[in-house]
Amino acid sequence: MSSLPISSDPSEQPTPLGVLGQVFGYSDFRGPQQAIVEHVIAGGDALVLMPTGGGKSLCYQIPAIARQNAGHGVTIVISPLIALMHDQVGALTEAGVSAAFLNSTQTFEESSALEKQLLANKLTLLYAAPERINTPRMRSLLASLHERGLLSLFAIDEAHCVSQWGHDFRPEYRSLSLLHETFPDVPRMALTATADALTRQDMIERLKLEDARLFLSSFDRPNIRYTIVEKTDATRQLLRFIQTEHHGEAGIVYCQSRKRVEEIAGMLEDAGIKAMAYHAGLDARLRQQRQDRFLREDGCVMVATIAFGMGIDKPDVRFVAHLDMPKNIEGYYQETGRAGRDGLPADAWMVYGLQDVVNQRRMIDTSEVASEEFKQVMRGKLDALLTLAEGTRCRRVSLLGYFGEPSSPCGNCDNCLSPPAVWDATEAARKMLSCIYRVQQASGISFGAGHIMDILRGKPTEKVVQYGHDQLSTFGIGAGLAEPQWRGVLRQLIASNLVRVNTEAFNTLQLMPDARQVLKGEVSVLLRQQAASSQAERTRRGSKSTVKTSVKGMAEATLNAGALERLGRLKAWRTDVAREHNLPPFVIFHDATLRAIAGQAPHNLQDLSGISGMGVKKLAAYGAEVLRVCAEAS
Ligand code: ADP
Ligand code: ZN
Repeated sequence: MSSLPISSDPSEQPTPLGVLGQVFGYSDFRGPQQAIVEHVIAGGDALVLMPTGGGKSLCYQIPAIARQNAGHGVTIVISPLIALMHDQVGALTEAGVSAAFLNSTQTFEESSALEKQLLANKLTLLYAAPERINTPRMRSLLASLHERGLLSLFAIDEAHCVSQWGHDFRPEYRSLSLLHETFPDVPRMALTATADALTRQDMIERLKLEDARLFLSSFDRPNIRYTIVEKTDATRQLLRFIQTEHHGEAGIVYCQSRKRVEEIAGMLEDAGIKAMAYHAGLDARLRQQRQDRFLREDGCVMVATIAFGMGIDKPDVRFVAHLDMPKNIEGYYQETGRAGRDGLPADAWMVYGLQDVVNQRRMIDTSEVASEEFKQVMRGKLDALLTLAEGTRCRRVSLLGYFGEPSSPCGNCDNCLSPPAVWDATEAARKMLSCIYRVQQASGISFGAGHIMDILRGKPTEKVVQYGHDQLSTFGIGAGLAEPQWRGVLRQLIASNLVRVNTEAFNTLQLMPDARQVLKGEVSVLLRQQAASSQAERTRRGSKSTVKTSVKGMAEATLNAGALERLGRLKAWRTDVAREHNLPPFVIFHDATLRAIAGQAPHNLQDLSGISGMGVKKLAAYGAEVLRVCAEAS
């Protein structure tokens, strides 16, 4: 039984909304949460597609509580990350829900004790990693629970891990289809923030969810501002971005390689920023330590490879920066989605350049494990990301469009805030395409970007002369544009699939079939003009405050001096409690809850009970303390 003050008499059981209020202290469901929760409580199967930060956890936690109260036993939550389970279980325990996890760090005795609790129907939620579910011991435990009618629900979190088209493929997820075969009458739900059509279809087939009801939320994260800028000096750009826009705030910086992660973390540290490196090459203990510090200490910046982040539930990450381009839009969206889960303004900021395109292409082309079919899909996905990066329309419209969701310009991305000028690059594009063509024709082999640009700009380098390319009609026809501009042209030609970088042959450039139309002058090419960066940044910063207050739910009430003092004391108190409980501070109370308390200057428990995030158990456990801390401040 749950330890909550919820009656076991069915007629007195609270509604889902009642559970939301009593246990979690929230007054309204978000988006489709209510429909999902009701469907699952009634025993239906569900596939839930919701963006990161959308509130997926409650979609299985509330059914778990309701179904356990109705006598159906335990909900098994399958989650890929062991590190995360500890905090999730901690958060549930804080809210008065009996939850536990099973993982490989536990001793035999600990596992046995848990099994006893389960068989005695004492647990509402049990978290386990997929590899755990497939052990003989777990299978026999599940069978015993099932026999007793105590297997309430399977919730498969991060369900896209089952698909090789997703970006976090985990082979162990494949065997989860066995759950359904063994226990066909137990309801199942699968949850993910990855929803491109291919992955979705694969997920449905692999997990045999054909009959499950699909709940598709809007994938929009309105509080996240998307910005993609041309890479000039990535390190300096990043430093300036953090110093001017996110001083003292928590953020994640993604880089491609371990070496670069180390370099960037070092550079940020030298600049006085609390930065740490995180990648798979580090010792597991060190990784755990750093992750804990990131979660527990205010204002840390994690510089990481994509090894970091899945399941990071920290609500107050204020920015996610990409110093290297991700593989595809799914990855980009998942990674940027880790910013601003608390609904307050946050930035998704990326720098990218020609080299990124070449690197990503090469990784696909030279992969020895992937089949040609797979490579083809990956190339298509990379192209979609390039189109996003080079595009001039609203980033959000492009992103949501990729997930099949129509929308209108958002007013909260770089392209909306300072619309990029476009220039008619038809002539430049034709020059470049014909130069690539002539060189190939004259020499019988293809050349790389640097060489082509040298010819266009009329630079008689040793190589140019050696091949006689200074004699070509295209030699010097592009002297009017500087090299960065030519780079921009080339990048966008690649993004538009007019030119391909052949990474299997020294990154040489090749014309694609559509290039012919441009060469013949049948289509014109409009390209994004790279804005003079200082101007763009001024516009951006100038507009920040207005957008901040205009996005729903984002307005931060200004606190007076008394309230600020209360907030400071409440935070200090929360740090102590969190340390005592070995949990991150936000598991005790979110910043938003503390701010609301500080602003309200509560005098009694009644005053506290209506505050968002203050459930019944937390009110009982911490109410008096919170009042005492507030009283001390005045
Ligand atoms: P996801 O797993 O979809 O990324 P979470 O379940 O971690 O998202 O929820 C994101 C945040 O939103 C959490 O801090 C959670 O407490 C909060 N949240 C979820 N649903 C609600 C709600 N109905 N009202 C208020 N806050 C909510
Ligand atoms: Zn926009």
